[in-house]
Amino acid sequence: MEKLLCGVDIGGTKLSAGIVERDGTVRSKITVYDHTGKTEHQIVDQIAGLIWDLLKKNNLTEQDLEGIGTGFPGHIRYREGVTITTSNLPGFKNFPLRKAIQDYFSIPVKLDNDANAQAFCEYKYGAGRGYSDVIFLTISSGIGAGIILNNKLYRGMTGTAGEFGHTIIDPQSEYECTCGNRGCFMGCACGLTLPQRFRKKIEHGMKTTLPLPPDFDYSHVDGKLIKQGIDSNDPVSLAIADECADYTGTGVYNIFQIFNPPVIILGGGLMNLGDYYFNRIRLKFYELARDMLYDPVQIVKSEAGEDAGLIGAAALLLE
Ligand SMILES: [Zn+2]
Repeated sequence: MEKLLCGVDIGGTKLSAGIVERDGTVRSKITVYDHTGKTEHQIVDQIAGLIWDLLKKNNLTEQDLEGIGTGFPGHIRYREGVTITTSNLPGFKNFPLRKAIQDYFSIPVKLDNDANAQAFCEYKYGAGRGYSDVIFLTISSGIGAGIILNNKLYRGMTGTAGEFGHTIIDPQSEYECTCGNRGCFMGCACGLTLPQRFRKKIEHGMKTTLPLPPDFDYSHVDGKLIKQGIDSNDPVSLAIADECADYTGTGVYNIFQIFNPPVIILGGGLMNLGDYYFNRIRLKFYELARDMLYDPVQIVKSEAGEDAGLIGAAALLLE
């Protein structure tokens, strides 16, 4: 019998571990939310416990697994298996995460960045199936990406390749990115800019038709509210969706010019803004690409669901 895969998805709010079949089906998974207050070593201990629970629950032993693939929400040194930094969890500065997990098991452990894991999931089982070159872009509270070239993840020198979120698309931008630069793709177009954009529009005299209380705190503006605004034709929400989509379309265009890939897959929470937003991204892309599209390029939505990080991390064992 071919061995099963084990995936671990370490997130800023949830931590999932699962037994995954080689066709990408999740056979069994456990998700917890209480890891965020723990130390690195406590989290590793928790991960090992989750995997042991899964094995027991499924009547399996470690030897039934090909290995353990782990996705981490931050920068890592890929070859060394060391985390560099993350804005999603406390600690994890230069932490040897792969070895720490490996100490609990005798099967191989892989560690990669979560966007790479998600990209690999799309490539194996989702919208990137059948392509040898795939660029996956995730747009949520930040912007991350995974690059697959010739059927392999491209990781760069350190392991941080694909940080399109920090490519600069508007140096004159009034928006500062979390990295400190102005005009980063992420600083212009990710979910974190929604509150500022909303507040600025209101301060400039635009009227929202959303039913907000008079003392509404604009820091609470999120994708859900903007989606509600788009659906009810709120001019403020529509304008914000347009701005973010135009920046994203520009980012996608830059990616296209660098890689000339046959498919660019868009995922992440902001895609829940729906077709209004998605179509505007594509519109901007085609406006910029003009007559430079010598072959059709697919700009498509992610097909993998909420388990993309988990399945992708597990699938890294098949890379
Ligand atoms: Zn940046």
